[in-house]
Amino acid sequence: MRGFSFLTGTTLKKRCQHAVFDSRLLPAAFVIVPIMCCLPGPIAGAEPSRPSPSETSTAPEHPASQQLTLTPSASRPPVRWLREAEEMAAPLRIICYHPDGVVADRAMARAIARIHQLNAIFSDYDPTSEVRRLCETAGTGKKVQVSDDLWQLLTFSLKISEQTAGAFDVTIGPIVRLWRRARMSREMPPAYRFDEARQAVGYQFVRLYPEDRAVELLRPGMRLDFGAVAKGYAIDAALKVMRQEGVPSALIDLGGDLGLGESPPDRGHWSVAVAAMKPGEPPSYFVRRARCGIATSGDRYRFVVIGGKRYSHIVDPRTGVGLTDQSEVTVIAPNATLADALATAVSVLGPERGLAWVDTFPDAAALYLRLVGDHTEVHTSKQWKELSGETPDAQP
Ligand code: ADP
Ligand code: MG
Repeated sequence: MRGFSFLTGTTLKKRCQHAVFDSRLLPAAFVIVPIMCCLPGPIAGAEPSRPSPSETSTAPEHPASQQLTLTPSASRPPVRWLREAEEMAAPLRIICYHPDGVVADRAMARAIARIHQLNAIFSDYDPTSEVRRLCETAGTGKKVQVSDDLWQLLTFSLKISEQTAGAFDVTIGPIVRLWRRARMSREMPPAYRFDEARQAVGYQFVRLYPEDRAVELLRPGMRLDFGAVAKGYAIDAALKVMRQEGVPSALIDLGGDLGLGESPPDRGHWSVAVAAMKPGEPPSYFVRRARCGIATSGDRYRFVVIGGKRYSHIVDPRTGVGLTDQSEVTVIAPNATLADALATAVSVLGPERGLAWVDTFPDAAALYLRLVGDHTEVHTSKQWKELSGETPDAQP
């Protein structure tokens, strides 16, 4: 197969412009450059993904099942496979390379099943999820043994909460619920509701019992909220499944947060464009990487306007108020869990404190775009240029 040619400079930019306007891609903060012009639309199972019209390919056009074992897969060239689904209330797209469609399809199906399993643990919307059941015990004095996944992500989230002195707070649930209702009613919740909710927020009210892998929520009404990290964690877990299934060259895009496995066989990296702040503007920032996580946080899709003011779904736990800055933070980190957590935390911390904190992580970098009037302010952490593998095409 002749894979997608590596796109650079203006060609890349032009192609991104098309992709950004593709309505199917709008929910994603990221546009996967080699893919974006050629997605055949939602498909039920794996099939070789088709190249863009301007490119030719010798990739088999017949279904995966027909190109079974005529030749041993080791001697066949890798083919690109695509599978789309919806998981964690977000569009999921898995792209991978493998010579054998059966192997690729099985790997992708298992990766999707793993994400589904994690949703049953972390969902805030499903009253039967493990997190929701744990929260029902808040303030009762009960300690609850939890699954390994919940333990891993909770201990990680508590560390981030501590490091940010609560700017990121995994116990933000009661306040997030208030804002969720405000988004529907378009009315500001009364002050007393904020006061009540704030009583039940505070990462220091989570008690851990490591010897039993158990958790106690000390205050009544406490509600853990993994909305800022669960997608990243699920992406990492799914990439791990892909690797275990013998398909390490994979990209997972869950609602615009990305996990990049080994690079495509014909290139040294995956190419990703960061969507511009202003609708209709072409992207100016690109990431060319493999083996990392990339996440974006911002108010592009989830916000509410009340009294002429725009409030983000990301809230400052110290005030209980949704962020009113129109910003978009993109983080590159060694894994998607960390990228997801940092992107949300930096959104709350703001460019100065947030980016200085990102600089303390050896392999992480952030791009902070903020809309001020009609102008996009650009802030980058020290390693952005190096870790993104790209210099800005043009300053917005
Ligand atoms: P997205 O879900 O759009 O990818 P994020 O990763 O930034 O965006 O997660 C936002 C979600 O994180 C919110 O919807 C909410 O559930 C939760 N959240 C909001 N504010 C905070 C905060 N200060 N700390 C931790 N989690 C938060
Ligand atoms: Mg996040």
